[in-house]
Amino acid sequence: MVVSEVKRIVVVGAGVGGMVAAWEAQRAARELDLPIAITVLEQRDRVGGSIVTERVDGCLVEGGPDCFVSEKPWGLQLIRELGLADTLSTTNDDRRKTYVYWKGRLHPLPDGLILLVPTRVMPFITATLFSWPGKLRMALDLVLPRRIDGVDESLGDFIRRRLGSEALDKLGEPLVAGIHSGDPETMSVRATFPRFVDMEREDRSLILAMLKRMRAARAARARAATGAAKMTMFMTLTGGLSRLVEALTHDLGPEALVTSTHVERVERAATGTWTVHAQTGASWIADVVIVAAPAYAAAAMLGDTAPALADELKAIPYVSSATVTLAYDEATFPRDPDGFGVVIPKAQSRRIKALTWVTSKFYGRAPEGTILMRSFVRPNDESGNPLDERALIAAATEEIAHIVGVTAAPRWARAFRWDRAMPQYVVGHLARVDRIEAALASLPGLALAGGAYRGSGIPDTVRHSREQARAVVQALAATPD
Ligand SMILES: Cc1cc2nc3c(=O)[nH]c(=O)nc-3n(C[C@H](O)[C@H](O)[C@H](O)COP(=O)(O)OP(=O)(O)OC[C@H]3O[C@@H](n4cnc5c(N)ncnc54)[C@H](O)[C@@H]3O)c2cc1C
Repeated sequence: MVVSEVKRIVVVGAGVGGMVAAWEAQRAARELDLPIAITVLEQRDRVGGSIVTERVDGCLVEGGPDCFVSEKPWGLQLIRELGLADTLSTTNDDRRKTYVYWKGRLHPLPDGLILLVPTRVMPFITATLFSWPGKLRMALDLVLPRRIDGVDESLGDFIRRRLGSEALDKLGEPLVAGIHSGDPETMSVRATFPRFVDMEREDRSLILAMLKRMRAARAARARAATGAAKMTMFMTLTGGLSRLVEALTHDLGPEALVTSTHVERVERAATGTWTVHAQTGASWIADVVIVAAPAYAAAAMLGDTAPALADELKAIPYVSSATVTLAYDEATFPRDPDGFGVVIPKAQSRRIKALTWVTSKFYGRAPEGTILMRSFVRPNDESGNPLDERALIAAATEEIAHIVGVTAAPRWARAFRWDRAMPQYVVGHLARVDRIEAALASLPGLALAGGAYRGSGIPDTVRHSREQARAVVQALAATPD
């Protein structure tokens, strides 16, 4: 009888990308009857990366992501496989209204506006947010020809071309700032909103395409089995998104995790094995290494072994962001927070980009009588110096006082800085990722996972990390000892 030797897999980075990659590698190995030993190395003293849930004064506070889109199925699918389906929670869609702060006023987004695209006539005509020339320009999308050269363009150029400058300034820019902390003038429309590109290619007009898709979605919902669990566009977990990371840790076995370990170098030996060196001086030999740290960190680790690959990784830009959660006594609050929140276009020169009315959008986040507000704060001052925790909280408090009109001081505040945590998919990103994948093909036993490459939200990160881990384990199983 031939007994295969145990294969060693090292995952670098214990954000959701790395944890999912390790979990999937373990499953794939089990299915293939491949004995493996997995180690996950993480520089922080905790796992989860950008996902962090805290309990403060009986309230649930999300420091990073607070929900994920259900339309992309990979997040939901993983949650069900982890046995967390019972903890899935919808948003409170009775209150699904978003406001845009423009010239000192909160303007509700008109009903039927889906991802910048108006789909209902009357609410759009009566909307206070857009000027008449702005509305007419958006409606011009109905007759404009499609672009057929297939060239990647910036999201800003795309929105201006189809819907006009006002749609970009009042909707497109704050939407991208809210989701990606990004600048639409540099971000690739193909990489960030591929759906827009498909809609134009297939149906020419975004408005006509959106109407067609809504009809199809309605028909699909009608066909779907009755009794299926209720879903909303955004979903979360009742105990917060850290539950996801806890479940992955539990399945993986906590002994697989090595925290407070900064990886400096990943090297390939002539024999084909890999050595992972940590700043502490410790090292690990591995048959497979999955690097799930941010692209710039992966570049630093791989610079000696694969300089051309490292150059491509280094070229993926990152931006910083910060969230501040403030808790108010309901009695001191001047208005009923009757929506999910507010987006604030850059042209309004405020220090926050977006505001979520947490206790209005989600269920069970705070005891009765407490209102939670979470804002995305611009993380640096005008000169580009990083704001510390106190300055972030002051900025959020003052801006909420100005925008919502609350004069009472918050009961407590919690701030999180996220330095270089958000990859920016700039024009040409997908071509760069193709080159990265081509370079990886000549480095057997090395894979990259996480949100830097083919989708930056949780569902895409889960999908990409699972695919990469499975592929690398299958290749390992196919390699003779
Ligand atoms: C403020 C904020 C809000 C967000 N909101 C949402 C949302 O609502 N919905 C959504 O779907 N997505 C959201 N995202 C995006 C989401 O968080 C990411 O898609 C996801 O967390 C990416 O996971 P990751 O594992 O690729 O990266 P990360 O979470 O960044 O994890 C990378 C890990 O690698 C570690 N690491 C780095 N260098 C080294 C090294 N040299 N050695 C060892 N370890 C290293 C880091 O410490 C980190 O733990 C948000 C992101 C942020 C920052």
